[in-house]
Amino acid sequence: MKDFVFKKRFGQNFLTDKNLLRGICADACIDKDDEVLEIGPGAGALTRELCDFAKKVVAIEIDKDLKPVLENIKLNNLTLIFDDVLNIETSKIDDMFEKEFKLVANLPYYITTPIIFKFLRESKKVSNITIMVQKEVAQRIVAKAGTKDYGLLSVGCAFFGEPRILRNVSRKMFYPVPEVDSCVVGLRVERGKFDVDSSLFYNITKTCFKSRRKTILNNLAEAFNFEKNKLVSLPFDFSRRAEELSIEEFVILTKLIAKFSEAGKNR
Ligand code: SAM
Repeated sequence: MKDFVFKKRFGQNFLTDKNLLRGICADACIDKDDEVLEIGPGAGALTRELCDFAKKVVAIEIDKDLKPVLENIKLNNLTLIFDDVLNIETSKIDDMFEKEFKLVANLPYYITTPIIFKFLRESKKVSNITIMVQKEVAQRIVAKAGTKDYGLLSVGCAFFGEPRILRNVSRKMFYPVPEVDSCVVGLRVERGKFDVDSSLFYNITKTCFKSRRKTILNNLAEAFNFEKNKLVSLPFDFSRRAEELSIEEFVILTKLIAKFSEAGKNR
């Protein structure tokens, strides 16, 4: 690592504290039968601990400059891939595992949301997500309806389980020291928690949050070209804003819109 230049654009703030690294493995409830996907192994500090706890670890790192450091680990339950995780098809990542896998990562800020949605929406095998994220993002992930942090990220995660903040981590635990503190967030993935089409649910929710100041009526009518007077005839209060709607209400809304669109097609 002597000559390694940390790259801000890849969010490279590394961990070294062994107690914390072991704590993250405990947060992720890794045991000897588990297969684990680590995104962004960096210099491999968390990777080594994961390999110690798990049956198998696949680690995907974007920065090829870390190749010599990571290839030095030489553990036979570790597979290293040097690529941008967002450029690898999720089904191909699923195929790297024999059964369900646990995702563990200390994520850079700029890819936190795309990674969460990539795996929650597309993976058929991820069973558990344990990620270190900026505190402010963690608060958005676990936010409840009616709070300022509540948004698409909160609803998108709640659709698949009950995300929780498992630990707070001071910025001082990273090298180089970032400008913000972090949290470890855990989510046990529950597929089929709600009996509704997940793509339509995502589209409706995303549309409702498109302009937070607008009512859901205006957001939905504009995006889908719905006639407002027909929409308000449905048994739902369309005068509210997305941040006021609970996940259960988004599910009801999705079902109503699905029926409404179907009826429109058949008219
Ligand atoms: N896991 C290490 C640790 O805890 O010390 C490093 C964590 S560091 C916050 C984030 C890591 O993700 C960096 O090594 C960075 O190069 C890598 N990374 C950033 N973007 C990535 C991407 N799109 N695909 C895969 N790895 C990425």
